[in-house]
Amino acid sequence: MTGRPFLPYGRQDIDETDIAAVAEALRSDFLTTGPRVEAFETEFAAAVGAPFAVACSNGTAALHLAMLALDIGPGDRVAVPSVTFLATANCARFVGAEVIFTDVDPATGLMTPDTLRDALDQASPGPLKAVLPVHLRGDAADLPGLSRVARGAGAVLVEDAPHALGSEVDFGDGPRRIGDGRWSAAATFSFHPVKTIATGEGGMITTADEGLAARMRRLRSHGMERPIGADPWLYEMREPGFNYRLPDILCALGQSQLKRLPAFAARRRDLAARYAVALAPLAPHVRLASTPDWSRPVLHLLTVLIDFEAVGRRRRQVVEALAAEGIGSQVHYIPVHAQPYYVQRYGPLDLPGAAAWYRRCLSLPLFPAMADADVDRTVEALSRALGLE
Ligand SMILES: *Cc1c(COP(=O)(O)O)cnc(C)c1O
Repeated sequence: MTGRPFLPYGRQDIDETDIAAVAEALRSDFLTTGPRVEAFETEFAAAVGAPFAVACSNGTAALHLAMLALDIGPGDRVAVPSVTFLATANCARFVGAEVIFTDVDPATGLMTPDTLRDALDQASPGPLKAVLPVHLRGDAADLPGLSRVARGAGAVLVEDAPHALGSEVDFGDGPRRIGDGRWSAAATFSFHPVKTIATGEGGMITTADEGLAARMRRLRSHGMERPIGADPWLYEMREPGFNYRLPDILCALGQSQLKRLPAFAARRRDLAARYAVALAPLAPHVRLASTPDWSRPVLHLLTVLIDFEAVGRRRRQVVEALAAEGIGSQVHYIPVHAQPYYVQRYGPLDLPGAAAWYRRCLSLPLFPAMADADVDRTVEALSRALGLE
C-alpha cells in the first residue's frame, strides 16, 4: 500500500470561487427559484450553442421531462442503447412507454445506425416516438445517421449527453458542440459529482424548440403557469407536473463551474492524450475505446477494453489489484437489457456488441485535479495487474 491518496475513477473539482459563489447565493433572498436559475440556463445554452436550456433537479429528471414534453406515453416505443446508465431506459418506463434496446459497436460502446435499424426490424410493432443515443464516455454517436433512421421511423432523437459536456463533433459541416439542437429534439445533461461539471445533484435540457422548452419549464414546477397580466395570486395548471426544480444555491455552483469548463476540458484532453501514449505499449491486450472520425471529445470516462482471456486474468482480480495500489476503476456499464426488471419484461435479448463491450470494458481514473504522474502510475499498476510488464 502506498501513502498516496486514493484515486477514484472520477471526482468533482470544487475551488474557492465555487464556494464563494454558493456562499453569495446563501446570503441572497433566494434559496430556490431566483435569478440564478435563468442566468445559469442562459450561460449553459451559450456554452453548448443551444437556443434554449431548462435547468432541473438531476439528469434523470431531465430525461423524464423530455419524455413528457414530447408526449410519449403508454404504447409508445423508445429506443436506447443497452450500454448506458439505467436512467436512459427507465425514463421511457416512467411515462408508460416500452423500451427497445439496441446493440452497440463493441469498439466504441455507441449505438449506430445499423444497430438501431436491426433493433427496429426485430421489435414488436408500435409507434416509435424517440431514439436516445448516449454519447458514451464523451464520444459522440453518429447523429446524422441516427437522425435519418429515426426520422424514417417517425421518431425524433433525444441525446442523453451527460458524458459529453464540452465535446465537439464535425459531420462535414464544420465543428459543432454537443447539445446545440442541430440533430435532436433535446439533449440532457447531469451535474452529478463525477460528471464534467458538478452541482451535487443537477440537470439541464437543451433544445432548439421554444415550445418544448416552455413545456419542460412548466412541467418541472407542477405544471403551474402565471397568465400574463392576471391577478397576482393567480396560477393555472393545464397538466400536472413535478417538483424537478434546481435551487438557486445549486445554480450558483453551476454558473461558477461552467466558467471553469474550458479549463476542465483542456485538462481532460491533456490527461486523455497522456493515457493514449502510456497505454500504447499494452496493445493489443489493452486498447482505448475507439473515437469515431467525427468526434472531438472531452472525455468524461477513460475506458479501456481489455482482452482478459488473452492475458489470463479476471476483471475482478484486476480491479482488486488496482484498488490495493490506491487506484479506483469502474465498469461502464452492465448492459441494461440484462437487468432483472428488463429481462422479466422483455425476456432475454441477444446483443453481442453490448456483451463484447461489457466483457472488456474498464474505466480508469480521469478528472481534472489528477496529476500527470497519476496517469503514469495507473498505467504501470494496470500492466502489473495484467502481467504485461
Ligand atoms: C449520470 C447519467 C444519467 C443520470 O443523471 P443523474 O443526474 O444522476 O440523474 C443519465 N444518463 C447517463 C448516460 C448518465 O451518465
